[in-house]
Amino acid sequence: MSALRSIRGMNDVLPDDSHRWQYLEAVVVSVLDSYGYSEIRMPLVEPTALFSRSIGEVTDIVEKEMYSFEDRNGDSLSLRPEGTAGCVRAAIQHNLLATPARLWYRGPMFRYERPQKGRQRQFHQIGAELFGYAGPDADAELIFLLARLWRRLGLQNVVRLEINSIGSLDARAAYRSALVNYLSAHHDELDEDSQRRLQSNPLRILDSKNAQTQGLLDGAPALQEYLDDESREDFVRLCAYLDAAGVAYTVNPRLVRGLDYYNKTVFEWVTDELGAQGTVCAGGRYDGLVAQLGGKATPGVGFAMGVERLLLLIEALDLFPAEPVPSMYVMAMGDAAEQRATACVEKLRDTFPDLGITRHLGGGSFKSQMKKADRSGAQLALLWGEDEVAAGEVTIKPLRGDGEQQRLPEEQLSERVQALLE
Ligand code: ATP
Ligand code: MG
Repeated sequence: MSALRSIRGMNDVLPDDSHRWQYLEAVVVSVLDSYGYSEIRMPLVEPTALFSRSIGEVTDIVEKEMYSFEDRNGDSLSLRPEGTAGCVRAAIQHNLLATPARLWYRGPMFRYERPQKGRQRQFHQIGAELFGYAGPDADAELIFLLARLWRRLGLQNVVRLEINSIGSLDARAAYRSALVNYLSAHHDELDEDSQRRLQSNPLRILDSKNAQTQGLLDGAPALQEYLDDESREDFVRLCAYLDAAGVAYTVNPRLVRGLDYYNKTVFEWVTDELGAQGTVCAGGRYDGLVAQLGGKATPGVGFAMGVERLLLLIEALDLFPAEPVPSMYVMAMGDAAEQRATACVEKLRDTFPDLGITRHLGGGSFKSQMKKADRSGAQLALLWGEDEVAAGEVTIKPLRGDGEQQRLPEEQLSERVQALLE
C-alpha cells in the first residue's frame, strides 16, 4: 500500500525547524506584549459569508483561493484565509469594542494558491488589530511596533516599508471610474489578468506584475489626485510621525492591497532577499469593516506577517540563535543504577525546573551511552554505575571544554549543579 502524504502546499514543521518557529514567535509575542496587545484565538473555520462580506466577493482570495465546503448541515463554511475577518467577528460577538482594544492572533491560514518558495496553501500569520482609534497615531503605533520587531530580529536593514493612502470609499469609487475609463481605452494592451480585473477589481491592476501593464499605468490618473481631504491630511500626519521617529519609508502610489476592506493607510514591509514572495508583512486601516460585519461603527487598523517568509529571511541571513541543547545527559549502567539515576534526576528537576536534562533510555554499554551523550550537545554527563550506587555517589563528567571528571556524594549534586550553572 502506498504511504499517505501531506497535502501539497501544507507542510509539516519538523523538530529541527520548530525551534526556529518558537524563537520567532517568542520575539514577536514579546514585542506585542510590550505594546499592550492581548492574544485572541479564533476558530480555523468560519461561515463563508464572513469572508465574502469582508474581504470582498471579487477579490482573488474569495474568488479563487478559499477552501470552502458544505458541512453535514448544508452550511457553507470556509477555512480562514486570513485573520482580520474572524478577529472582527469575535470582537463584535464578545463585545470587545466598547472601549479601544489591542488584539493579536497567530495561526494557520488557508489559500488555494500555487505552492512555491514562500507561498503555501497552509501558511501562518501573526497579526495585530487596533480598534477604536481613527487617527494616524494608531497607524504609526503599529508601524513602530513592527520596526522594533525587525530590529529585535536583526532584519532592520533587509526589510523596507512602503506606504500609501487609498482614501475613503467615496474617493476610491471616483478614482475607480477614472481608472476604468483610462484603461478601457487601452483594453487590448492589458495583460489577460488585468483585462478580467478591469470589470471586477480594477484597483488591483495597479499592482500588476506585467511590465507592459505597468507601462500603461504611467499615463493613468493617479489615486493621490482623488484622495479626500481627510485621508490626505491623515497621510501627511502619518508621514510626520514616521519622520519624527526616524522610521524610513517610501510612498508607493500603486500600493493598493488585495482586500476590499481597507481605506486610508495601507502598508507593506518588503524584502529583496526572497525573490517574488518579497512581502513579509502587510496591513492597513479598515474603518468600515466593523459596521459592515454588523457591529457598532468602530475604526480599525491592523497588520499580518507571513511567518514562513520571515523564517526564510532569518535563515537566509543566518540570524537564528544556536539551537538549545540539554545541559545534562544522564547515564546509568545496570538495574540498581537505573533506579538511583532516575530517582536523583527527578529530584534534580524539582530543584531546577528549567534545566534541560536528557535521560538516556534503553540501557546499553558505557561506550554507546557516552556516544549519545556527546551527540546530545549537553554540557555535562551524570553517570551512575555499580560503584557509584554502592557508595551513594554520582560521577559528573564535563562533555565540553577540559574540566575534570569528579565523583561526589549524591547529596551534593544539587549544590554542584548550581555552581556549574553559574
Ligand atoms: P501576496 O501578494 O504575496 O499573495 P497577499 O497580499 O495575498 O500576499 P496578505 O493577505 O496581505 O497577503 O497576507 C499578509 C502576509 O501573509 C503576506 O504579506 C505574506 O507575508 C503572507 N502570506 C500571504 N499569503 C501567503 C501564502 N500563500 N503563503 C505564505 N505566506 C503568505
Ligand atoms: Mg495573495
